[in-house]
Amino acid sequence: MDFTLSEEQTALQETARRYARNELPDIARQVEQDDEPPGRDLVREFAKMGFLGINLDAENGGAGLSHFDAVLVLEEIAKISSAIAFPVFESCFGPVLAIQHFAPEDLKRRIIPQVCSGEMIVAISMSEPDAGSALTDLKTSAKIDGDRIIINGQKRWCSGAGHADAYLVYCKMSDEPGAKGIGAVLVEKDAPGFTFGAREHHMGFRGIPSADMYFDNVEVSLSNMVVPAGGFRKLMEAFDLERCGNTTMSLAIGQSAFDYVRDYVQERHQFGKPLVDFQAVQMSLAEMKMKLDASRLLLYRAVVNAEAGLPSINDSSVAKCFANEMVRDVTGKAMQLMGGYGYSGAYPIEQKMRDGWGWGIAGGAIDIQKTNIAAALVGRRFSQRSGS
Ligand SMILES: Cc1cc2nc3c(=O)[nH]c(=O)nc-3n(C[C@H](O)[C@H](O)[C@H](O)COP(=O)(O)OP(=O)(O)OC[C@H]3O[C@@H](n4cnc5c(N)ncnc54)[C@H](O)[C@@H]3O)c2cc1C
Repeated sequence: MDFTLSEEQTALQETARRYARNELPDIARQVEQDDEPPGRDLVREFAKMGFLGINLDAENGGAGLSHFDAVLVLEEIAKISSAIAFPVFESCFGPVLAIQHFAPEDLKRRIIPQVCSGEMIVAISMSEPDAGSALTDLKTSAKIDGDRIIINGQKRWCSGAGHADAYLVYCKMSDEPGAKGIGAVLVEKDAPGFTFGAREHHMGFRGIPSADMYFDNVEVSLSNMVVPAGGFRKLMEAFDLERCGNTTMSLAIGQSAFDYVRDYVQERHQFGKPLVDFQAVQMSLAEMKMKLDASRLLLYRAVVNAEAGLPSINDSSVAKCFANEMVRDVTGKAMQLMGGYGYSGAYPIEQKMRDGWGWGIAGGAIDIQKTNIAAALVGRRFSQRSGS
């Protein structure tokens, strides 16, 4: 097994790193302060730089590279900020992957080129007030009526709500119980009857808007059908790749917190010597480094095994779960090692801790991932429902 990056990959990573370090910190500070997403001009600039749709098909405007290449770019940008990296995350690991893998050709041709050029952001809308971990309890309905689909219901916690141009909305599409009745339809923001509630303000994820979304007899064309009823398994397969994007975000936050604090403990002196001279500080640094490297290897395994297809649920859940726990631990240790400066808003670690925490809830809570891992281990699903 060769862990060396190719010349092209090294160049891609270097380009993203240089761009991120030179161009993005000021924008990231503003986004964090205002809690508003970066402007569309930045998203178009990402497109020009080749950072959008890296792993999407070249025939639809993507770069046609691998998921691994997309990870290399996303990590560098997410080291600066999750919110700034969010358009890259959405275009390489978001719901557009479900469109690429499962939507009819004409829908792919209509949507994917716009995503790759930065003209369109597509967000994912699964969760509802009474369907979070128990996603198959979702109630939002989509009924086919001739060549139209009529959607009714309410969604919650969608990252990008109100800001994204289109939404992959998971809906109940038949009377079949649970997963069997679920499919997904693409709803454009301007569809009549589609409205947004008040902005949520999270502990972290500032600059990534979230709001309830209401569907009141929203009509879209039948050609917006991405996956019909019975396709829940396909949606989850595409979502396994989204989990690799989530893992990359966690890794980037953890790695950048570590890089910062590794320098800090060498510069800051107490008791007449650098903090790094204390053995407890050395142990902390070593533990952070071990977990970061393990996260990186699990992520690389998941995307390299998937090649251009979709990763296995086992590889993606193990990687996500480990990285979600790692980033909480690493940012917590980084904060402790910086004492009062770590807790201060004037330094970057407190934001990294707030942002890092959220990734272990988004994309399926950590304990749900652990249940998935155990299910894959023994080759059967465990019902979470009472009385079964
Ligand atoms: C920052 C952020 C971004 C998000 N972005 C999106 C998005 O873009 N689109 C979208 O659709 N949703 C999004 N979500 C929603 C997210 O997917 C849900 O919050 C998540 O699936 C958990 O659902 P819940 O919040 O309803 O918690 P609940 O389902 O109520 O679970 C709460 C806790 O109970 C425990 N629990 C529940 N069931 C079990 C079980 N069977 N076994 C063990 N423990 C269990 C877990 O610890 C869990 O964390 C986002 C959430 C956050 C925080």
